Amino acid sequence: MSPSRITHLIGHSSWEGTAERTSEVFNPATGEVTGTLDLASRALVDEVVAKADEAAKVWGRTSIAKRTRVLFAFRQLLDERKGEIAKTIVAEHGKTYPDAVGEINRGLEVVEFACGIGQILKGGYNENVSTNVDAYSILQPLGVVGVISPFNFPAMVPLWFVPVAIAAGNAVVIKPSEKDPSAVNLIADLWREAGLPDGVMNVVHGDKEAVDALLENPTVKSISFVGSTPIAQYVYETGTKNGKRVQALGGAKNHMLVLPDADLDLAADAAVNAGYGAAGERCMAISVLLAVDTIADELVAKIKERTATLTTGEGNGEGVDMGPLVTGAHRDKVKGYIDAGESEGATLVIDGREGEWQGGSKDGFFLLPTLFDDVKPEMSIYTDEIFGPVLSVVRVHSFDEGLQLINDNPFGNGVTIFTNDGGAARRFQTEVQVGMVGINVPIPTPMSYHSFGGWKNSLFGDTHAHGMEGVHFFTKTKAVTQRWLDPSHGGLNLGFPQND
Ligand code: NAD
Repeated sequence: MSPSRITHLIGHSSWEGTAERTSEVFNPATGEVTGTLDLASRALVDEVVAKADEAAKVWGRTSIAKRTRVLFAFRQLLDERKGEIAKTIVAEHGKTYPDAVGEINRGLEVVEFACGIGQILKGGYNENVSTNVDAYSILQPLGVVGVISPFNFPAMVPLWFVPVAIAAGNAVVIKPSEKDPSAVNLIADLWREAGLPDGVMNVVHGDKEAVDALLENPTVKSISFVGSTPIAQYVYETGTKNGKRVQALGGAKNHMLVLPDADLDLAADAAVNAGYGAAGERCMAISVLLAVDTIADELVAKIKERTATLTTGEGNGEGVDMGPLVTGAHRDKVKGYIDAGESEGATLVIDGREGEWQGGSKDGFFLLPTLFDDVKPEMSIYTDEIFGPVLSVVRVHSFDEGLQLINDNPFGNGVTIFTNDGGAARRFQTEVQVGMVGINVPIPTPMSYHSFGGWKNSLFGDTHAHGMEGVHFFTKTKAVTQRWLDPSHGGLNLGFPQND
């Protein structure tokens, strides 16, 4: 089958031009090229931003009642069509079908949060701050906002930002990852079906050229970025230099500390689920397991036993736990880390470079789960974000040594502790220098009404995604002080007040 063309969505319409540059989209399970993606030029991005700006002027003044109706309709459509979107994610990203549905369900929760926009956009009000003077705050939209998303959650990460931005009255220009671009096109189409006016939701596909165009266009008022740390830092610095509000979420190296009093079966299940789920291509994946040495042998044995039962294969396959990596280049990079861990002296307990997978083809980008023990903090498998199915066990003597390692790490996205000691857990929660903390929970991803974001090199900017921090990011506060000297106005109208 020849590759299908994937192009930009400018408001409600597919772009009809001819791209000067394109890139290939693969099916990671077979290695086949399935799509040809149009890459936007700077001029095209500027054109789309200008259209979004026109739409933002109208959408930002549209009543909360009407905006809420669009959000409820979108929520319904997303729920109904999530199977179709999940299939597209499996075909371009490679993760398993249930995992793809899971990410859309987490995105759906942000839509549900945004459906309450009338409640969450309420400003504060003080009557009579001075004699006959009232003071209040109103939250207004920014205008055009830019979103730049990574490959690993092609639906959920866009849905962290877009529903809140649109609910708050902004127009969006989103640039999805060029590796798995189709899910966002399907989602944009649902916004159209939900009744969102033309130009409020726009998708430009592309690479650095499109990103730079968004970062430099003065009409784009904010950038929400998620991706690797070096690009997050670049986006933050360039965006803020150009006067924009920027939230740039970066990479991660998440640790799980297991104390001797923990339930080791629970901890082993959690380490395997959070280490190998989505082939380790999650920003909240557990990459390092810190085992206090009195229980380390037993814990490693339990993890080894469970890992041996996992099935790697094509994401739609029956009983498949883990799919391929996103590209051949990424699979080779992760393989390179396994080579390095071995030559640097870590104990290779399970070697993911060997073994069979189910379905797909021999040219698929597969790598099986890998488990290292006796990993030392100076090894590259410890220092670097691998973003693959590689779990490293570091043995520590104590809670304090484990906590110190976590706090010395330059990343601060997620962390978890497994223990039955409430005092230890409480001290951990207080002293750990990480943005999202789990206690006997493997992947502590906050709910939509809390906010998602890490600390240190995992976030540039100070505002996390969704929840009230998301609302704050996508609005400007205006403080109004009013005095009315003549209160006499009115007229009779016995009709029941309503929106239309
Ligand atoms: P990436 O940094 O390669 O790409 C992210 C986005 O930036 C893409 O849209 C890409 O097109 C664009 N981009 C890439 N290179 C660029 C450049 N030189 N200039 C401008 N833009 C560029 O990240 P990825 O490989 O797509 O995603 C994986 C990374 O994302 C991992 O590091 C992971 O930890 C991180 N991530 C973090 C979170 C979080 O919440 N902190 C969530 C998901 C993923």
